[in-house]
Amino acid sequence: MIEASGFSYNLIRQVLAESPAKNKVVILDCCFSGRAIADLGGLDEAIIAQVGIQGSYILTSAPPNHSALAPLGATYTSFSGHLLNLLQEGVPGGPELLSFATIYPRVRQHLAEVNFPLPQQRGTGTVEHLALTRNRAYLGAVPDVTYPLSRAQPGADAILRLELDLPETVYGVDAPVTVDTAVLCPTCEGALHAPGSTLQACGTCRNTGLVNGNQCLECRGFGNTIFQPCANCDGDGRIRLTRALTVDIPAGVEDGMRIRLARQGEVGPGGGTAGDLYIEIAELPHDVFSRDNNDLHCQLSVDVTDAILGCVVSLHTLDKQKLSIRIPAGSQPATRLRLRGYGVPHLRADGAGDLYVRLNVVIPANLSPEQQRMIRQFADNRGTTP
Ligand SMILES: [Zn+2]
Ligand SMILES: [Zn+2]
Repeated sequence: MIEASGFSYNLIRQVLAESPAKNKVVILDCCFSGRAIADLGGLDEAIIAQVGIQGSYILTSAPPNHSALAPLGATYTSFSGHLLNLLQEGVPGGPELLSFATIYPRVRQHLAEVNFPLPQQRGTGTVEHLALTRNRAYLGAVPDVTYPLSRAQPGADAILRLELDLPETVYGVDAPVTVDTAVLCPTCEGALHAPGSTLQACGTCRNTGLVNGNQCLECRGFGNTIFQPCANCDGDGRIRLTRALTVDIPAGVEDGMRIRLARQGEVGPGGGTAGDLYIEIAELPHDVFSRDNNDLHCQLSVDVTDAILGCVVSLHTLDKQKLSIRIPAGSQPATRLRLRGYGVPHLRADGAGDLYVRLNVVIPANLSPEQQRMIRQFADNRGTTP
């Protein structure tokens, strides 16, 4: 994270270009959102174009001249100051990774408490669940080691790469996945011992796990021993299992994004709480449509006479809707038409990006003598032949 004021667009561009990170989040505070955007017409697109970044996201706080103010006696603007506090000090009770979705409501709440105008949500792109930072307050909550030790230890997170084609990432899908993780042993259900037996109290440390302040060697600090381990899991409380899951992929996800499935990761040693399962999206290329953040792009061939005279053509969108598009008379080769709202739906939000259709004007070859004569006549009529 870089904290500074008065960055030029060139410098932001350079910093972003040199960063090896896959996902880059740019948070523009009140100075940008309140003042710079006003000069640029208030469009996020204009900022993105100025900063010149791809696959990145920009959070801005306020409409022009709203919260571009500092509280009395503070050295920071209220929005960015509180935002930086949350990023640096963490959110007690919050998740391990802090995303825009966690932080933004708290910034809003803070602004309401100090009686400031509420900022607009101007997160662009699919920033909602991208981790901005690790939650410092969460790390601080890790308990100290206490004896007797618990046999149940938290499980590890698991990650699974999921290849999806473009219509699936754009419009969402219920994706079947196969996961191979440790799960709770169905025989002992994490009790570790064989059915009918029990854990045996450790006589050496009298169940405390400690002998003269040191970890008991007999029970390794657990305060008990497994006299008759569960045969199914060998006393580990977990077994490996291949499971079939259906993952609800929301509309608007994109390549590299991770979807978290809580408690679907590895069950821990001793039958400990499962970690999380992250599904990492890998978006496959499409034959017809390409994607640029929330916009889609495609090409459309039109005959030269249709480009000259104008026409109405039909186009099939990525979700197989048939659209009638008016090609204006005199359209030039490589003209780009913008179909608002026919792009990628915003992730967990209203609205969608745009569909850009690039015209490919087709010049006919192999004209008949009659057609050649007519084209010459057309040229003569326009006075373009010598
Ligand atoms: Zn078992
Ligand atoms: Zn012991």
